[in-house]
Amino acid sequence: MQISALKRCVAVAAAVLVLGLSGSSKAKAATGTGNTANGTHTLASAEQYVLHLHHLHTGESLDVVYRIGDTYVPEAMAKLNYFLRDHRTNDVSSYDPKEFDTLHELMAKLGRGNQTIDIVCGYRTPWSNNFLRTRSSVTGVAQHSQHMLAKAIDIRVPGVQTRTLRDMALSLHAGGVGYYPVSQFVHVDVGPVRQWAFGGRGDN
Ligand SMILES: [Zn+2]
Repeated sequence: MQISALKRCVAVAAAVLVLGLSGSSKAKAATGTGNTANGTHTLASAEQYVLHLHHLHTGESLDVVYRIGDTYVPEAMAKLNYFLRDHRTNDVSSYDPKEFDTLHELMAKLGRGNQTIDIVCGYRTPWSNNFLRTRSSVTGVAQHSQHMLAKAIDIRVPGVQTRTLRDMALSLHAGGVGYYPVSQFVHVDVGPVRQWAFGGRGDN
């Protein structure tokens, strides 16, 4: 019984190997035609997810197709991670791609998918987060900020009221939403669903 199970196991392994080989040759043959991981979509038919971003601290802009169908584009992830680096220390982290989906969905819901999002703050090292928290007594900066986990971005969308942006972000139920009306930005993260408002000058 054990032996026959083992034989079956070997047979399955061989079948996987054959499938794997044919899969990889397929992938090779498909290089340049843009097949996604499941092999059923092409670049032409799969939805392209685009983000237009402008960073208010670095002055940099980024227009990027970050996802095609169900596949996050690795080169785009690298660009986004660098773009969203800690602007004080230049440290780069690895963003949770769900954060990009949340921004994309937010802009789509606003009917502004082609518009640029102003980035107030992306990734924060613990050093930067502590710097912001301690430079005044009330800062609106959390000790365990989702910015340090590369799961949060503070944004502003030109032409959209901060309150409207907040309400739309809340409607997504995608994570945390912080409302900073005085500094006119909204914090959007993909941590636990929660919300808060900060009436003072939010540091960023
Ligand atoms: Zn924030």
